Amino acid sequence: MLKYTEIALSHLEVPNETALCIYLSGCLHRCEHCHYPELQLPDYGDDLSAHYADIVDLYRSQATCVCFLGEGKCGSEEKDEFGGFASYAQAKGLKTCLYSGRDVEIEPWMQVFDYLKLGSYQPSRGPLSCPSTNQRMFRKNGDAFFDITSLFWR
Ligand code: SF4
Repeated sequence: MLKYTEIALSHLEVPNETALCIYLSGCLHRCEHCHYPELQLPDYGDDLSAHYADIVDLYRSQATCVCFLGEGKCGSEEKDEFGGFASYAQAKGLKTCLYSGRDVEIEPWMQVFDYLKLGSYQPSRGPLSCPSTNQRMFRKNGDAFFDITSLFWR
């Protein structure tokens, strides 16, 4: 079950979008210099499924994209939840983005999102805003995702 700790509007997470950022707990990673250690706690925060529709409806006039920061345990239950959340947002005219901290290729279930950020934070490589970063941001166009990481370097 996905649980969230806070929400915020931001222009920084997704290029050319006003993102409704939803911070998700249960992170399984242990990055050096973690920016938000509380997100590593299991079962921390409120059940997102109980509040998601109200949150989206409240912010839909101010946001252009719902951005999920983290993916919890990322098991089958969480993936199903993400599918429903993405469909709801898109039905309201909003794009969706997933920030995953995993070092993986794009997985089939991720097709529900319009944007993806993949990759762990590695201090020696820097964050998305650093040209040496290992992390990648993708934008979907049709059924294909294109690497737009360089938009963070301008
Ligand atoms: S992915 Fe984010 S929340 Fe998880 S340990 Fe790394 S920096 Fe912290």
